[in-house]
This record gives sequence, structure tokens and C-alpha cells, in this order.
Amino acid sequence: MQLWPGLMVLRSLTFNLSDTRSFYMQSIWPKGHKFAFTVVDDTDWATLENVKPVYDLLAGLGMRTSKTVWLSPGDGSGHNGGETCESPRYLKWLLGLQRTGFEIALHNAAPATSNRETTQWALERFRQLFGGHHILFCNHTGCRENIYWGDARLSGWRRTVYNLATCGKRRDISRGHVAGDPLFWGDLCREHVRYARNFVFDDLNALAICPELPYHDPGRSFVNFWFPSADGGNLKRFLANFTTDKLDRLEAEGGVCIAYVHFAAGFAENGVVNPEFRKRMEHLSTLNGWFATASEVLEHLRGSASIKDRIIAPNRLSQLERKWLLEKLLKGTT
Ligand SMILES: [Zn+2]
Repeated sequence: MQLWPGLMVLRSLTFNLSDTRSFYMQSIWPKGHKFAFTVVDDTDWATLENVKPVYDLLAGLGMRTSKTVWLSPGDGSGHNGGETCESPRYLKWLLGLQRTGFEIALHNAAPATSNRETTQWALERFRQLFGGHHILFCNHTGCRENIYWGDARLSGWRRTVYNLATCGKRRDISRGHVAGDPLFWGDLCREHVRYARNFVFDDLNALAICPELPYHDPGRSFVNFWFPSADGGNLKRFLANFTTDKLDRLEAEGGVCIAYVHFAAGFAENGVVNPEFRKRMEHLSTLNGWFATASEVLEHLRGSASIKDRIIAPNRLSQLERKWLLEKLLKGTT
């Protein structure tokens, strides 16, 4: 994607943190921990070979994080080499991971587009395999049953700018929230999914950007609660963004980081975890962090608050959208 020519106009729309600091500094983490850190691992390309070494490292460091899965390969059109729950050896490993305290989360029914019936089957299968808890969900780019994805992530003029910048290629690409569409599953999402991932930022401390997290957006009401995350998309991106300085600052701020990663994208090769990534995680484990799963962290932040209690104000949502759009345009990604 080429940078939109009017990008400089957006530079003036910087985010004001001053009104958010007092909120999150009041947050108290369990057991005297100073901050919280977790990971949501997008399952793209993941196989037992390329992600198990990473999970062995995390488990050894006492960290418990969240890993997304596909229930089946679907019609095969989205195949990217990643394994699904239909692989007996992979499923056995996932169940073992869950038993040791990691969270298993959902990344659509399959890497290919699924109709309502298939998504319904996947939700039931997920609950059979991993239990009856409320599900954490992340859209998989490319699936047309995604919920509020593509240009539907944005509102008003932000959506217009995004569609101009992407030449309209992301317009109406997600149908999961469109009632009456064969791909609609919004009602099922509301029933089964508690938390869904939306915006990803460079900043590690999600509370500094979005003290309302997890928040409810009445304009995207089939999702109960949204959460933003920090960009560690592949190994290169993670190493550039998750520096020891920034991790130390996260602790000093008492914040929360929900890293969004693809552990299959270079974090381990030939069974060996990348040494620099290992170093960063070892450093992180020496800090006084609460290293729990994403749902545990989000449940802690939400407490007993209902959807009504967590509605984000329109101006705050607009700030988040502007910030995400600006970072997208600067990076030249979609
Ligand atoms: Zn994905």
C-alpha cells in the first residue's frame, strides 16, 4: 500500500495520554506484581515443529500465554502450512499446553472462509475439545466471515481515508456481522466469544493507549469486549518493538502488554529458539510481572463490570481509530 498523500494532515491528530494516566496507575496487579504481560499467538503457519520450542521456553520461564487455533483446514483454499485441530499429534500437544495453564483461543473455524454452519460447528467443536469457558477470538485476515474487519474496523472519515489508501480493496471484506448474510455469525459471537482483538499498536502498554480495555463498542455490538494489543507480528518486528528498554518502561508504568505475535514467523528454526528472542524473554522474566493468559488479564481488568459499564466513549474510540490508522499509513500496511 502506498502512503496516502494526505498523511501529513493526520500527523497533527496526535494522541493525548494525559487524561488516561491517572486511570491505569490505579490498577493493582495480583500478588504484588508491578505489571502484566501476555501474548496472543496467531496460528498462521504454526506446526508442532516451529512453535513447540517457543512454548517450551515460555513454560520454562513461568509464563502462561494464549495460543489461537483453527479447528479444521476448511476447503483448503487458505492453506498456509499451519496445522489444525484435525492433526492428532498437534491436538494432543494443544491439550497438554492447556493442561499446563496456557489458554487456547479461536482463530476462525479454518484458514479458509467458513459459512455460518461451519462456524457454528467450529464453536461447538472448540467447546468439546477445550471446555466451556468463554472464548477469546482473533479474526484471520483473508476469511470473509470475519467480524468487523477490513474497513469495518473504522468509522466515519477514518473509514473513508482507509478505503482511499487501500484503493477500496478492504471495503466490505468481512461479513460475519452482517445479519442475513450466509457468513453471518454475530449472534453466535455474542453468545460464545467474550474477548476479541482489534487494534494493534507499536506501544507496549495497552493501558496507556486504552485505559478502558476491555471495552464495548455499541457500534460493533456483536462483540462483547474488544482489546488492543502490541505489534510483535514476526521475529523482526518483535525484536524491533519489544526492546529491553521498553519492557523496563512497561514495568515502571505498571501497565499491561498484550503482545500480538505469529510465533511460527521465525521465532524458532530447526527446533532452536532465536537467541535474541530468548534473551528478551529471559530478561522479561526477571521483572516483577504477572505472566498470565490474555483472558485472565482481561478478566482481572474487567472485574465484575458488565458490557454497559465498559462502553467506550465515542471520542475515545475515535482517538483509537485515528492512532491505528496513522500507524498503518506510516508503516504502509493494511
Ligand atoms: Zn491469522
